[in-house]
Amino acid sequence: MNKLFQTSKKKINVAILLACLLFLPSMAKAYTINSVSGNLTYCDTMTKGIFIIWWDNDFNYSATADLMLDSMLAYRNTCLNELGMQDPLNAQNGFYCNIYIHTPGNPLDFFSTNFPSWGNGVGDDGNGYPFMTLPNFVLDANYAGGRWRNLAHETFHIFQTHGMWDITPGIYLTDDGGWFVEATANWFSYMRYPNDQHSFIESEILVRTPHVPLWLGWANLPFYYPNNWQRQVHQYALSTYLYYLTNNAGISDSSLVSVFYSGTSLTPQEYMYDQIGGPALRNHFMDCAAHMTNGFDFILPTQFAAAQNEWNTYAEPLDDNQFIQTYFNSGSGGWFQPTDSLTTNAWAFNTYKLLNTNTETYTFEINGDGTGTYGDNSYFQGKVLVQNSITGASFHDVVMSNNFQGSLALSLTPNDTAAYFIIASMPEICVDSNPTFQLFPYQMRISEGTTGILETGISSVPKFEIARYNLLGQKIEKNIGGLQFIVFSDGNIKKVFIQE
Ligand SMILES: [Zn+2]
Repeated sequence: MNKLFQTSKKKINVAILLACLLFLPSMAKAYTINSVSGNLTYCDTMTKGIFIIWWDNDFNYSATADLMLDSMLAYRNTCLNELGMQDPLNAQNGFYCNIYIHTPGNPLDFFSTNFPSWGNGVGDDGNGYPFMTLPNFVLDANYAGGRWRNLAHETFHIFQTHGMWDITPGIYLTDDGGWFVEATANWFSYMRYPNDQHSFIESEILVRTPHVPLWLGWANLPFYYPNNWQRQVHQYALSTYLYYLTNNAGISDSSLVSVFYSGTSLTPQEYMYDQIGGPALRNHFMDCAAHMTNGFDFILPTQFAAAQNEWNTYAEPLDDNQFIQTYFNSGSGGWFQPTDSLTTNAWAFNTYKLLNTNTETYTFEINGDGTGTYGDNSYFQGKVLVQNSITGASFHDVVMSNNFQGSLALSLTPNDTAAYFIIASMPEICVDSNPTFQLFPYQMRISEGTTGILETGISSVPKFEIARYNLLGQKIEKNIGGLQFIVFSDGNIKKVFIQE
């Protein structure tokens, strides 16, 4: 009895010692207040770990702050211990990281009176230290943006700061790198709340404006683009692509965000391209495009429905570029080239839809230009998504014979109700400093039967001219004026303009 008691006492002592050892680092680390905007006369505060939350003492946000701090410390734990990120510089220097709850429009509120331009976000306090401002309504349980999703997003920004402000210049060296800051903050939020109905809420824009360059964000939004919601939220929507990479393509969470503390001068997209490798990343991008086209089959159906509802509520309907052409029980009637405003940019895609009720074999072909509009080498891949009313979706790679030409023949039955021909442009470039975004033009063709397959293999037979076609795919004579496509025996196609 006595012995047993002693043993368990010893165990308890060991347990207490272990607990002390485990908590020692955080207990030993004391933080002091260093705030540009707070005022202890007018404000109440609450601290936990590295964070201090401030609010005007005319209001009572203590219960809210208590809940917030627990969540923020949990986010911090993930950032530091699972994602390899670092504390913000204020915490590293022994100061609390400041979070301010303000009450916009209320004259009683110390913060809204002194800092009327504050919104919802993270900024630099002038000392290189980040601080967060949150209007009281984003902390409401009924906040449409989701109080926890919003808090996770903004807290992730806190843990990006020391990396992107002090260590890794590549993120902001060009305007084409900034998209990753918002995309990963949203990605983190959606990773934390993957079953929330409003996670992935911006997703639909990725299939409605799929032709814009991957790195389109606020900073590089061109003057010649329509100024609408779907073009402005692109950098947020890309969180869905990042979620696909980490949840469906085997990219680890920590490698996705490792750029922040890498010290690289590369843009995030180039860093990712180097880390994952061109062939693998291109396959992931192509696969993601196909799965997004298949009703975003990697998120919940309720989330897909919510994202479509978001599109219907906020999008400019005329700027919907989901399907370049839609065909009914027929091919494209010859070679087709989209207009410049619809043509694929870098790391972008176009989709053609074929609705089918017949038993028919179709051949899908890509014939890309060798270079983009500013001379960079093109790179295309294609995939056909077939939706079958009985067996569901299947995905079929277009067989590429070089970097810009390929074909695929598929036999459809009446149960194959739709085929989506997705053409992705994925050149080996990661920034665009041209006067306008570089386009990567191509022609495509969907033919009934297999006879039209573009033979693009290297031939030992000297090439000769087979036929000429106009824009409509009609066979024409040499002397007919206008744009002609000359098909050679080696499968190459040359575009010429004949003056009459
Ligand atoms: Zn943000």
